[in-house]
Amino acid sequence: MKKLIFVNLSFVLVLSWASAQQKSSTTAPSIIFLIGDGMGISQISAGHYLGGENSVFSIFDKIGLIRTHSKTNKVTDSAAASTAFATGQKTYNRAIGVDIDSNKVANLVEVLKTYSYSTGLVSISSITHGTPAGFYAHVKDRDAQEDIAQQLTKSGVDYFSGGGLKFFNQRADKIDLIKDLKANNYYVDTVQDYSLKLAKNKKYGFLLAEDGMSMVAEERKDFLANSLRQGLQYLTDKNAPFFVMAEGSYIDWAGHRKDPEMMLNEQWDFEKAVKVAIEYVDKHPNTLLIVTGDHETGGVSVQKGKTIEEVIVTFSGDQHTAVMLPVFAYGPHAEKFTGMYENTDIFHKILSVVKGKKK
Ligand code: MG
Ligand code: ZN
Repeated sequence: MKKLIFVNLSFVLVLSWASAQQKSSTTAPSIIFLIGDGMGISQISAGHYLGGENSVFSIFDKIGLIRTHSKTNKVTDSAAASTAFATGQKTYNRAIGVDIDSNKVANLVEVLKTYSYSTGLVSISSITHGTPAGFYAHVKDRDAQEDIAQQLTKSGVDYFSGGGLKFFNQRADKIDLIKDLKANNYYVDTVQDYSLKLAKNKKYGFLLAEDGMSMVAEERKDFLANSLRQGLQYLTDKNAPFFVMAEGSYIDWAGHRKDPEMMLNEQWDFEKAVKVAIEYVDKHPNTLLIVTGDHETGGVSVQKGKTIEEVIVTFSGDQHTAVMLPVFAYGPHAEKFTGMYENTDIFHKILSVVKGKKK
């Protein structure tokens, strides 16, 4: 009698284990893609040696390297780099979502919609700036930020937050894009209450500055980590796989300014967002996290200081550089992101994950 019960129980256990396995392998993973704009291995090293605690990057054991050159330049800009990630095409510098002949190329927001993914974008700069724009817009030149804003209102992006309000409500054509966003089921605000639970049947657009947001050392505080966390919660509540891109935009700006203090503050701020994403993946195992940069900025080095204990951050220039960048991956299919490859391969690898392909 006892034996019979045992057999029945284990049979039930095997069945439920099998259906759980099936479920996890048939549900496409959600994807968190974090870009440190201007973040190379030196910025990460500086963050580590001057941070006083273990680098958040220590958790990754699937690491690759990308070549970042654009179609026209050995040294890319953020627009061509973003287009490479979001469309799988190398293009000319300043291009957003168009190829070398200025033809539109489908981006991740558009492609993933056909796989029923929800989408989110978080940026410290204007949401119409080069890096975020590459994921949803198509313009010949990144400076067309009013056009980019208009395309965002029709993009179907479920959640976005960042700066750029003036490209929506103080436009040369006088069109009020805030009205258009609301007509397209968006809740729009110029402040963000991170404690609010967002309604899953609404879309959200937070435009928190006229143009780029302030420095982290000023009033911006933990916007990037908090807004990413709130976005992740909202996208999770929608009960569909999602893709979210969040950008630490000002590591780059610090490089252009050759400002070591700003660089470190922005690097650490970005790392807080990486931490939020790692914690999310640990709680939601069917999520793939990818962290990389679009190019390095400033030719940063970490050099010997006055004492053997001390290191200092130095800049060899104030422009982007062509050095290869690390790619860190965590979660299902992370192994696909090891090796040395092109920035455009990020797009193809993401798609292969979405389609559930082995390679
Ligand atoms: Mg950027
Ligand atoms: Zn830059």
